[in-house]
Amino acid sequence: MTDAELLERADAIAEHAYAPYSRFHVGAAVLTRDGRVFEGVNVENAAYPLGICAERSALARAVGEGCRPGDVEAIGITASPCGGCRQWLWEFRLDRVTFPVRGGELVTYAPAELLPDTWDLDA
Ligand SMILES: [Zn+2]
Repeated sequence: MTDAELLERADAIAEHAYAPYSRFHVGAAVLTRDGRVFEGVNVENAAYPLGICAERSALARAVGEGCRPGDVEAIGITASPCGGCRQWLWEFRLDRVTFPVRGGELVTYAPAELLPDTWDLDA
């Protein structure tokens, strides 16, 4: 699966987002190294900090199916990831993060490019 195809999956799932407050629907799709795809959407809450982003939603689904850091190869997201999600993408050791920027151009980064000089705790 190409990064563009992964983003198409993210785009298709975005309509299932629960975003009654912002009305900003985001979809994400992660590709595991063994070829599985897990999708996620943003889920908002009236208590705003309790909402979850699409990227973390997709990664949580992958974790629920047994994936661990290093098992996920790539993610397609319909929007630029927030700072908190960039830390998740770093921790899960993805190779590629693809999302559209203004004008619709697709960009792909390594997590370290999105969050330089980050940190780890020993797990
Ligand atoms: Zn986020």
